Parts: sequence; structure tokens; C-alpha cells
Amino acid sequence: MSAGTARGELFLLSAPSGAGKTTLVHRAMELLDGVEFSISHTTRRPRESEEEGVDYHFVECAAFASMVADDRFLEWAQVHGNRYGTSIDEVLPRIERGMDVLLDIDVQGAAQVMAAGGPAGRLDTAVHSVFVMPPSPQALVARLRGRGLDEAPAIRQRLQGALGELGRVREYDYVIVNDRAEAASETLAAIILEKRQRRERMRERVRSVLADFHAHGPFS
Ligand code: ADP
Ligand code: 5GP
Repeated sequence: MSAGTARGELFLLSAPSGAGKTTLVHRAMELLDGVEFSISHTTRRPRESEEEGVDYHFVECAAFASMVADDRFLEWAQVHGNRYGTSIDEVLPRIERGMDVLLDIDVQGAAQVMAAGGPAGRLDTAVHSVFVMPPSPQALVARLRGRGLDEAPAIRQRLQGALGELGRVREYDYVIVNDRAEAASETLAAIILEKRQRRERMRERVRSVLADFHAHGPFS
């Protein structure tokens, strides 16, 4: 981290599958500099459109288990019959470079990161949590089907989990109802921007501007 650059912060995004997290994350990253997406590890098979190292790091169960044993995950959870996890290596170097990092993780993983004295302590940075809600059950069903990525049993499994996931919305700092994707992604970007302007995070910048004033001209 160069002098004057504050540490980046962590933004957890959770939602029932199909609510639109991936869409919002990509659009918010188009709107903002200085924010990167954490690519998770998963034991799920890749979908046809997915690429190794872009959507996920796709790994065998044994490789995932050995990363768990080596304590390389910030959090991990079993979701819809597969394991998913955020590796420390994916997040920490970015935080140290001053980048904000977006995590698309399920409610169990988010709870692990948010827990007082939980794993986020290892990152030494602030954690902000955002829950993305679909505007209605009809919209969620239409989005999961319309996405065309999952077979019918996988869609059923995701819908069955949705109510339980929605019930945990109260654990989050912010809520975005993803009705119109454009407005919802602007809201996500606004949350990230607002966090950057807090005086605590601006401390080094404030110090350098004030030092300039003290050193120059009629102000000194
Ligand atoms: P998630 O990552 O939460 O599983 P996706 O971002 O893959 O969800 O979105 C699921 C589907 O819904 C995709 O086909 C996406 O294009 C569509 N979608 C996302 N947001 C909206 C929205 N606001 N209105 C209509 N369709 C949307
Ligand atoms: P999908 O299989 O549709 O890509 O993702 C299924 C679920 O796994 C989503 O709720 C998504 O947020 C969650 N997920 C993706 N990556 C991670 C991760 O690293 N950790 C946890 N706990 N959940 C994840």
C-alpha cells in the first residue's frame, strides 16, 4: 500500500440465487474504479457459459478440503449441495493495495465474516453487508428460468432455499430491492462511494492536503 492510500474495505453481497447479485456486481464495477470482485472457489461443476478463473476457481472436493485444512479460507459454506469459499489470497492483497473488494457469498458465509471477532479480523478492515432482494416471488422464478443456466431440479432447489435466505435480511447493513437493474446497481455503487468518503478513511488524504496548506504561500 503506497503512503496515503487507505486500506480497501470489504462489501458482502447476499441474495437468493437469481435475485441479480452477479448482474449488480458487474454493473457497479463498470460505474466505479477501485473495486474488484473476489473469485470464489467451488466444488460445483462449471456451467456451459462459465470460465475457470473468471466466474469461479473450479476445484475437486479433495482440493477444497485441503484448503480448508490449511486454513486458507476467509469463509466457506455448503450451498445447494456444493461447497463454496472465499480464499484469503483472493481478498487480502487487494485490501492492502487499497482496493474495495466485493464478495458474492451466501448467508452462511456472510454470517461467518460478520461475526464479532470473526475471520474478517484477519483482514484488518471494515466489513459492510448488502442484501439484494428480488421485487417479488414471480420475478425470482422468472429470472431463474429466464437465465437458462440451471436444470429444473437445480432451479427447484434454489427456490426452496429462497425463503430461508430472505428471512436473514435483518442481519445486513443495507438492503437493495433489485427491481430495475440499472437503478439497483447505481445504489450499490453509491453505498461503496459513501463509505470511501468517511473522515476516518480520508485521514491520510486530509493530512496531505493540510500539510500542503501549511507548507505553501500565504497560508504558512
Ligand atoms: P444471481 O447472481 O443473484 O444468481 P443473476 O445476476 O445471474 O442472479 O440474475 C439472474 C437473472 O435475472 C439473469 O438472467 C439476469 O440477467 C436477470 N436480472 C438481474 N437483474 C434483473 C432485473 N433488475 N430485472 C430483470 N432481470 C434481471
Ligand atoms: P451459484 O452456484 O448460483 O453460482 O451460487 C450459488 C450460491 O453460492 C449463491 O448464493 C452465491 O452467493 C453463493 N456463493 C458463491 N461463492 C461463494 C463463496 O465463496 N462463499 C459462500 N459462502 N457462498 C458463495
